[in-house]
Amino acid sequence: MTAPNEKPMKVLVVEDEPHLRKTLRLNLIARHYVVEEATDGEEALARAAISKPDLLLIDLGLPKLDGLDVIAAFRLWSSAPVLVLTARGSEADKVAALDLGADDYVTKPFGIDELFARIRALTRRSLDAATTLARVVTASFIVDLVKGHVTLTGGSRPHLTPIEWRLLDHLARNSGRLVAQRELLQAVWGPEYGTEANYLRVHLGHLRAKVEIDPSRPRHIVTEPGLGYRFLP
Ligand code: CA
Repeated sequence: MTAPNEKPMKVLVVEDEPHLRKTLRLNLIARHYVVEEATDGEEALARAAISKPDLLLIDLGLPKLDGLDVIAAFRLWSSAPVLVLTARGSEADKVAALDLGADDYVTKPFGIDELFARIRALTRRSLDAATTLARVVTASFIVDLVKGHVTLTGGSRPHLTPIEWRLLDHLARNSGRLVAQRELLQAVWGPEYGTEANYLRVHLGHLRAKVEIDPSRPRHIVTEPGLGYRFLP
């Protein structure tokens, strides 16, 4: 959703399947995005270079140049968010795409609501860099990012360790977006970390026990196996 006097966001849709491409185009236009399209990998890079999109929405299986190669080339000069459309079962492709600099993915077949939740989460990030996000509200708790505490819906305020707070703070600031394991480790522990997935499991387990209604079935701090974590309000 864009405010009336805000510049519309430009989305480059790269998809070789005509029906899906049309569905994406119509839904983006209905939500006031400006849409450009490419049907193969080479066309994608040529268009991206000219139009400088604010978001790249890209299928991985493409004619001429593979989607992974397009992402790698795009990342050489653009920091715009990249959202990947993948087929079910292609876990290795997801990991490869994220390693090359993609920001998130949706698995086909996906719902339009899910797709736009992902797009909003990715495009909100660039806005948040300029503005200050004060509070993140979920059905179970409220995270106050300015005062640095969390309040459960019943009114109690659990004590979080500094590590637990930094985990919650980073995930809540990136609400809706996939946060890769490496990114979360580096945000919380520092740049020399990146492979200590067990740190995340242990401390996120403690955090969930304090804020989730059913910590064994978390609704807000969700694991994406092998990839990372996602905060869902
Ligand atoms: Ca395809």
